[in-house]
Amino acid sequence: MSIMKAPENTPVWTDESRCKACDLCVSVCPAGVLAMRYDAKSVLGAMITVVHPESCIGCNECELACPDFAIFVADKKEYKFAKLTDQAKERQQKIAENNYMMLGA
Ligand code: SF4
Ligand code: SF4
Repeated sequence: MSIMKAPENTPVWTDESRCKACDLCVSVCPAGVLAMRYDAKSVLGAMITVVHPESCIGCNECELACPDFAIFVADKKEYKFAKLTDQAKERQQKIAENNYMMLGA
């Protein structure tokens, strides 16, 4: 579906021109990798952001959840993903409590 070339050494990446800021990918990520940032130029005033790529476990939930094909996950053969940690789970909880917006922004 994607026509984007996979960037090297990157677990998860986005196509901001497609993102409609629906938050779905952020809500399904178990590891606090994703969050929305404020962006006055975008449709809903927010834009998807990869905030902690080093925590990505490669579960593909974000890519499967996105209705607009705006987020992509590397192939397991091409990227060594992290393991899910308590710290990552706690961060995800805080991002969810923050209405899926970036923490500390
Ligand atoms: S692949 Fe999984 S862990 Fe990585 S950003 Fe997507 S939902 Fe989060
Ligand atoms: S699910 Fe897709 S459209 Fe929705 S915020 Fe994530 S990247 Fe953007």
